[in-house]
Amino acid sequence: MATTLSNSFPSGGDATAIIIPSKPNPLIVSYSQLAAEVASFQKKLARLGVTPQAAVSIALPNTYEFIIAFLAASWQRGIAAPLNAAYKQEEFEFYIDDLKSAVALVPKGSFQQDGAAVRAARKYNAAIAECYFDGREVVLDVKDEGKLKGKGNQRVEKAQPDDIALVLHTSGTTGRPKAVPLTHRNLTRTMKNIKATYELTPADRTMLVMPLFHVHGLLAGFLAPLHSGGSVIVPPKFSASEFWDDFITHKANWYTAVPTIHQILLKNPPPQTKPNIRFIRSCSSPLSPTTLHLLEETYNAPVLEAYAMTEASHQMTSNPLPKNGKHQPGSVGIGQGVEIKILDQDGKEVEQGKEAEICIKGENVTKGYLNNPKANKESFTANGFFRTGDQGKKDKDGYVIITGRIKELINKGGEKISPIELDNVLARHPAISEAVSFAVPDEMYGQEVGVAVVLKSGQKLSESELRAWVAEKVAKFKVPKKIYFTDNMPKTATGKIQRRIVADTMMKQDT
Ligand code: ATP
Ligand code: MG
Repeated sequence: MATTLSNSFPSGGDATAIIIPSKPNPLIVSYSQLAAEVASFQKKLARLGVTPQAAVSIALPNTYEFIIAFLAASWQRGIAAPLNAAYKQEEFEFYIDDLKSAVALVPKGSFQQDGAAVRAARKYNAAIAECYFDGREVVLDVKDEGKLKGKGNQRVEKAQPDDIALVLHTSGTTGRPKAVPLTHRNLTRTMKNIKATYELTPADRTMLVMPLFHVHGLLAGFLAPLHSGGSVIVPPKFSASEFWDDFITHKANWYTAVPTIHQILLKNPPPQTKPNIRFIRSCSSPLSPTTLHLLEETYNAPVLEAYAMTEASHQMTSNPLPKNGKHQPGSVGIGQGVEIKILDQDGKEVEQGKEAEICIKGENVTKGYLNNPKANKESFTANGFFRTGDQGKKDKDGYVIITGRIKELINKGGEKISPIELDNVLARHPAISEAVSFAVPDEMYGQEVGVAVVLKSGQKLSESELRAWVAEKVAKFKVPKKIYFTDNMPKTATGKIQRRIVADTMMKQDT
């Protein structure tokens, strides 16, 4: 049974595992080359002194060297800890210190430039090594041995199913990011679940657009496709102008992304040659039914919305492929190898159709946050379900509908308003390109409805027109009191909306 990453991929053969679409000569890596490169890099890490369950911070963008470093670190019982290479020093310091990283892997040239990751690693005495592909192999160029000095020449160790393979932090949408350890068993379960949901086979070619430093890109865009024996196209970063060219040239047939990226791509549609798309996956933020329909019309392919979180090693639910059942706009689908229950405060299942907290159970779910007993105590029910912090309900067919985050519901004098429901209504307005709803403080009700709105270019809309339009669609108490028109909706590096930050940014305009 494939319960570690090292025995979850084809270990040999000429089939293409990875395509780095560099121009004019793409790098094409077969499964046997990949296995040999990973084995060789494992030795390099062992020589440097990486011991079982030591954290390897990987501050590299989506590159071949990232892939090799990630696979080698986790296969040899290290803990891979991918980081956004664009972080500032303070952010690197937080993550490197939080994990007591043994080593930080940085891009070529970082040491000489004394980059942010290098300074942070030095502060916490982590070893520093530059990592790059020299055209022949992935080089590990050790610049500073830090705390690994004198500890080199370890043996390559084989990972066990319950070893931690990966630590990622949550996005920090509702508070400080929490460190989530994920074991080989957790990750391989998600890989199998995603493979089964979309019936991935060696014939599939995935275009990776999400960063590899979050579960979305890493699990759905990369590890699950490799587990299925297919090929993954890995551009260094998402580029709307090059996306379709790479997609068509390298014969991709699906991609997974956040709604923001789908929207950017709709504005940069493919050229004359229509790509042959088997399906498109959307995850990590709510996809409005309006965008879903537009995508399906434009690409002539089913758009399947999924629901995921770091603590679940990514996927929990998804809409099925059309041949396996209906896909339901506005719903994130059904549990995919994951048990889903809607539970009240006391851990009791509520009636079908009633809203409460979405809770999950499965082999993919983390055992608990690192160094955070309080959060761990609050996060699991007595019968072992994990509380997602998301509010939702099931429809009569068992399809899950997310109505908001428990911490983000707008509480207007006791009346709970779902910000997602309002976002979806606003997205239907012909003049609106993007809208995000949130709670604003209110003397009378405690909280009122606020909304940040980006208009389509050249469009005009007054506050009163907007209110009148919303009042035709939803109950009067949900009509926004505060409306902020803006050109710039704040987002995370992965294109996620953080309501808290949107709200703070908008409310600053009031002072
Ligand atoms: P933190 O836990 O630190 O507050 P976060 O929850 O944003 O941050 P992630 O693990 O990256 O961190 O995101 C998981 C969350 O993303 C889910 O709990 C859910 O709220 C949201 N989410 C994921 N997929 C969807 C979706 N399809 N529709 C709506 N929300 C989604
Ligand atoms: Mg969360």
